Amino acid sequence: MFIDTHTHLDFDVYDEDRELVIQRAIENDVQGIITIGTDAKTSEQSVLLAEKYAAVFAAVGIHPTDCAQATEKDYELIAELAGHEKVVAIGEVGLDYYHMRASKEIQEKAFVRQIELAQKLNLPLIIHNRDSHEDLFAILTRTDAGRTGGVLHSFSGDEKFLEKVLLEHFFVSFTGNITFKKSTSDALVKAAPLDCLLLETDSPFLTPVPLRGKRNEPAFVVHTAEKIAELKGLTLEEVGKVTSENAIKLFRLPL
Ligand SMILES: [Zn+2]
Repeated sequence: MFIDTHTHLDFDVYDEDRELVIQRAIENDVQGIITIGTDAKTSEQSVLLAEKYAAVFAAVGIHPTDCAQATEKDYELIAELAGHEKVVAIGEVGLDYYHMRASKEIQEKAFVRQIELAQKLNLPLIIHNRDSHEDLFAILTRTDAGRTGGVLHSFSGDEKFLEKVLLEHFFVSFTGNITFKKSTSDALVKAAPLDCLLLETDSPFLTPVPLRGKRNEPAFVVHTAEKIAELKGLTLEEVGKVTSENAIKLFRLPL
């Protein structure tokens, strides 16, 4: 069994065959899928998808690349959606100093306010971090974000940073990019204990080998799991089992 803890099923690349994509995931033993909002509109769409399909759960939040345009009303909608029974996390939220679509101050404000929402509702966080390790870690510790926990998705950074976030009780997840020929993440994946790991596709992005070039989807998470198994000298079943248990525990999935 596998759980894809990070996908964007509301994206229009799935408009033609969304139902089949979800079916294919289930047929391939992906028994839980968390679809993630990046602004008020996509968060709402994620909740609608979670309402429609038993295996689909939602996360709601405003992404650091979308926070410059976010209005008070958007934050109110996020807070309202967050109370929905199929919303299992606040996300994705965080900092992005690579695209830098909003100033550091605006990004920090948006991030802190959504950490506070997560704490108020006792929901875990799904955290985006791009070229912002130091500031991100400072905010996580200052706000005591580890209290409700969460995951640093598409983990990037060195082993020292990994050690720091694990000490704050966060999970980490790697995407299909660990399967790429040019991947430099082997040592990081080996260093991340299995009981702190989640699986994710970040689909439609980052399609794993051997399917690179195709649109990514939750069913393909098995290829990332295979790579983790190979690097850690474990069986695919062990990786699927433990990472699913981790996801069920963190997001309190009724699976
Ligand atoms: Zn994402």
